[in-house]
Amino acid sequence: MKEGIFEERWRRTKYCGHVRGTDEGENIVLNGWVRRRRDLGGLIFIELWDHTGLVQVVFNPEEDPNLHEEAKSLRSEYVVAIKGKVRRRPEGTENPSLETGEWEVIAEEMVILSSAELPPFDLWDTDKVYENLRLQYRYLDIRRSQMQEALRLRSAVASFTRNFLGARGFIEVETPMLTKSTPEGARDFLVPSRLAPGKFYALPQSPQLFKQILMVGGVDRYYQIAKCFRDEDLRADRQPEFTQIDIEMSFITEEDVIELIEEYLVGLFEAVIGVALERPFVRLSYKEAIERFGSDKPDLRIPLEIKDLTPIFSSTSFVPFVKVLEGGGTIRGLLVPGGGELSRKELAELEDYAKELGAKGMVPCPFKEQNMKGPLAKKLSDEEKHNLVEQLHMKDGDLLLIVADTDFKKACEILGQIRIKVANRLGLIEEDSWKVLWVTDFPLLEWDEEEGRWVSIHHPFTAPKNEDLELLPKDPGKVRSRAYDIVLNGNEIGGGSIRIHDAGVQRMLFEALSITPEKAKERFGFLLEALSYGTPPHGGIALGLDRLVMLLGKKKSIREVIAFPKTQRGQCLMTGAPSDVEESQLEELFIKLKEEAKDGADVC
Ligand code: ASP
Repeated sequence: MKEGIFEERWRRTKYCGHVRGTDEGENIVLNGWVRRRRDLGGLIFIELWDHTGLVQVVFNPEEDPNLHEEAKSLRSEYVVAIKGKVRRRPEGTENPSLETGEWEVIAEEMVILSSAELPPFDLWDTDKVYENLRLQYRYLDIRRSQMQEALRLRSAVASFTRNFLGARGFIEVETPMLTKSTPEGARDFLVPSRLAPGKFYALPQSPQLFKQILMVGGVDRYYQIAKCFRDEDLRADRQPEFTQIDIEMSFITEEDVIELIEEYLVGLFEAVIGVALERPFVRLSYKEAIERFGSDKPDLRIPLEIKDLTPIFSSTSFVPFVKVLEGGGTIRGLLVPGGGELSRKELAELEDYAKELGAKGMVPCPFKEQNMKGPLAKKLSDEEKHNLVEQLHMKDGDLLLIVADTDFKKACEILGQIRIKVANRLGLIEEDSWKVLWVTDFPLLEWDEEEGRWVSIHHPFTAPKNEDLELLPKDPGKVRSRAYDIVLNGNEIGGGSIRIHDAGVQRMLFEALSITPEKAKERFGFLLEALSYGTPPHGGIALGLDRLVMLLGKKKSIREVIAFPKTQRGQCLMTGAPSDVEESQLEELFIKLKEEAKDGADVC
């Protein structure tokens, strides 16, 4: 088919989704895609789509037989321009599910601008479509209203962010994509250099060092909507490239960052989804978050808390508990109101899940007819049972789940995961609420068994609490950091810290991390040098834009709010990246592939 030419007279005068009663009797020009064609009783109806919505167009053989004939050739996703007159739909034929549903356009002229192959999936209802097909034909997927809404929401969040920060004296500064490795704890993506054979750039895991250096440069308030790259195994809902709202400020303390971000999130939620978040946000120390919710990103929409049962069992004769207590361990319980409705099979599955998470066991204690049941009931003294019932306010139909472990954190974290699972199963999550909180007072370092050394929990530029600094060389595990995370409905949506602004302290920290002075100089010499030229106290935060938009849009995955995401295997199914390159390109880079890497062999 010869495709028509888009001349001036075909320029649209109305968007499809905007046709209303005020247009009645008007001649309008529409541009868009044919979403559906129906031939009914001699008339042809099409639903014409653009990003604003759908409108019905009618071709009547009695008014223009040639045009009607031409309309027979229309297929889904053809691109057309149509001139026509708006009229009210005949009574009884209105479509209340469309905003334009009371009106239709009687076609008077049309040009077909582009034909289309038959789409490989239905653009109306893609929930049932295999995601990989959607990713391969992303341009079709993007024509769906869900994707249109997601991309527009994302754009609204970005605009709000720029306006908000701009109005508060922040300037947007771009930082390089081709750079040197900056450690955020993941693997770098490397880019070989042609001009310096054998050398590599790293794609930034975040602009962390650049933003700190901007503070040394006197920029005072920086932000950037920044792409970050981390070459991780993509098991969870992650992407190898993702976007952060990256912020840094000078001459501030934690409270300034917290104040700014609270104000920002309250404004953002109000502006884009009309939700009023309550201020001040809840604050929990890391220790309290682990103790009460078994997670450093607790979902406070779940009304369940982990309790310390250790005192109740201090003189128990139940051997497994005795052993744990002798080993300095802890006994923790999660009371699940209504948990009695879980079947034996479901309880067994929960126990298996706890074991998968590393529990030696988890004891379920159902409470029925004012009595504790289950295998443990016979093993406990009356006093222990009485204390449990009294202190936990147990009621008929409740279920108590107990985990004992010599490792305090492990016991809590296991119950933390169980808490989420049970809440999902029993529908205990307050789905329509928004629970946002700060988690503070993280340990600065944690021991990495595999590496046999201390590693940073945030990143190595996070400042220790002043009062803990002297512990750094002696007892690094006890040092708390000046880091803070922000958590929304169980998702970490951001994190940051006050930074080390003293080259001496930074050197001390590298030492605690077993980074030799030579290595520190080689990798971060430029930072140490910069810090020695007059550095303001500074700090900042980065918010994960993808996750934030996902939550605002109530989507299940960040892939739903990224125009062109990668699969779990890091592939772009539309372009086919990553892909082979020409031998000559490799030669220019002095790169020779190993046999096992050829032909895309799966060596992972
Ligand atoms: N650069 C950090 C990150 O990507 C955030 C920060 O400390 O500002 O997690």
